[in-house]
Amino acid sequence: MPQPFIGLTSQARNETDGFEIPANYIEAVYRGGGIPVVLAPIGRGQLAQDWLARLDGLVFTGGGDLSPALYSEEQHPATVRMNQDRDECEMSLMRLALEQGIPTLAICRGLQILNVALEGTLYQHLPETVGHIVIHRADDGEAVPHSSRIVPGSRLHSISGTDKINCMSRHHQGIKRLAARLKPSAYTEDNLIEAIEVDDHPWCFGVQWHPEMTAHDDPVQQRLFDSLVIAASQ
Ligand code: MN
Repeated sequence: MPQPFIGLTSQARNETDGFEIPANYIEAVYRGGGIPVVLAPIGRGQLAQDWLARLDGLVFTGGGDLSPALYSEEQHPATVRMNQDRDECEMSLMRLALEQGIPTLAICRGLQILNVALEGTLYQHLPETVGHIVIHRADDGEAVPHSSRIVPGSRLHSISGTDKINCMSRHHQGIKRLAARLKPSAYTEDNLIEAIEVDDHPWCFGVQWHPEMTAHDDPVQQRLFDSLVIAASQ
């Protein structure tokens, strides 16, 4: 099969009227042998079916918070940078990718979309719930390193080939109620679920950390993208 086309969701429309995506997501897919295609959040989800008819795999990237209305909760004061266009677009795309068995890597906000699309819920502000045992985001909003413990016997365990993974973390929300169709595949020391997978799907993984930030010099993180591209080639 020729190189697979991997769609990557971009950020919401920004203040200068652009759709941005950090280059490291694109580069990680490219290094893995995929052809990266940027998916801008236009069309309120109406394009999702057409995208999937032409793409072989997907990466849901990080970004602002999901609207808590998607999981029937009131907005917490710390819930910010919401965007209805992006929410609608990504929820439609995720639901179809799950239905159609499209290989999918869901990163940070992407993991949250995956959980909520399957009717799970989120903690809206982790410092108030899981506390400060593990720092998941620096005070200035930047990424911080922490390790995650990978669940033995999980599919993530076979892909990563390790029990403990070094991660870059930049999130203040996380999984509260895990959706019934999902299995936890990694945890931090505060018992927050840091990775999830879908058993009855060919290849669907969510990670709360940012593999794209370190994949250029960490083969364990790059393996997530390599494995996605291999699954998308089949
Ligand atoms: Mn984290």
